[in-house]
Amino acid sequence: MEKGEFGLIDWIRKQVKVPDGVLGIGDDCAVLPQHDGLETLVTTDMLVEGVHFLLDDIDPYSLGWKSAAVNLSDIAGMGGKPVGTFLSIALPKGLSDSYLERFFEGYKALSDRFSCPLLGGDTTASPDRLCINVTVLGTCAAGQSRKRSAAQPGDLICVTGTLGDSAGGLKVVLDNLEKNGEEGVLRERHYRPVPKVEEGMSLAATPGINAMMDISDGIGSDLRHILEESGAGARVDVRSLPLSAELRTVCARRGWDPVGLAAGGGEDYELLFTCRPGTKVPVPHTVIGEILASPGLRWEGTDKDFTGFRHF
Ligand code: ADP
Ligand code: MG
Repeated sequence: MEKGEFGLIDWIRKQVKVPDGVLGIGDDCAVLPQHDGLETLVTTDMLVEGVHFLLDDIDPYSLGWKSAAVNLSDIAGMGGKPVGTFLSIALPKGLSDSYLERFFEGYKALSDRFSCPLLGGDTTASPDRLCINVTVLGTCAAGQSRKRSAAQPGDLICVTGTLGDSAGGLKVVLDNLEKNGEEGVLRERHYRPVPKVEEGMSLAATPGINAMMDISDGIGSDLRHILEESGAGARVDVRSLPLSAELRTVCARRGWDPVGLAAGGGEDYELLFTCRPGTKVPVPHTVIGEILASPGLRWEGTDKDFTGFRHF
């Protein structure tokens, strides 16, 4: 794949013409205006065995949970309210009924938490791997969904929660480390992320919050999407990245670099947003940098560059 993941998506984007008023490819969700002062948000994401998860590592409940969570997170990234999901599964031979029952329990537990029912889907056989595709519909007051393209020079760059826990949890899983203690907490963050749906909705209702997206590939990658879509640059001070106590402890114990995990690691499913200085931000957050008029992402407090995750 010579174009790379984002090159391919850009190429696909250039092939399509989207009607006026509709937001298509390029953000966490597509946005379709409705007549009643609302807009509809739509997002879809696929999880492929061997790429996004290893069947022997993740338990089926967590896999179901995470399949719903990563998709609801894209609705959260626009500030929307999730209203329903569609689940398509391609099942390899030999997957037991009890495996699928546990998968559905996890999927339902996460969806119920956000009162977001399963409304449909598709079921098929797979020659080899388990593949899961989830589509989520959401709503937002007209004009309120937050786009990647709205960052302005001078905006503060903010994140909710802590960064790097999920990437640390993945290392815990791959290195087959403890299942409890701080390592266990990171493992849980990796397997059972909680999308920041309520936080996204209150941010979208706040004037002064400009660009927003969820953090799926790591800020090193995700912030670049905001910069590209907004035609802006940024500086980020890695010393200000919010790190959990558990990540600090495990990194100290194992000799890992917490900053690399926080800036370059994916799957935190926190929110990344920009706001005018002085905005009364309604959710707990950390300021990590500033939007600049000149292009490029400049890291401060490090001589490394962090690019985040990409598929190819
Ligand atoms: P996210 O990580 O937020 O799910 P992605 O990086 O997967 O976002 O996708 C970025 C944008 O590209 C989204 O708007 C998505 O809908 C779009 N996109 C990705 N793959 C395709 C595809 N094969 N065809 C059309 N649009 C795509
Ligand atoms: Mg996203």
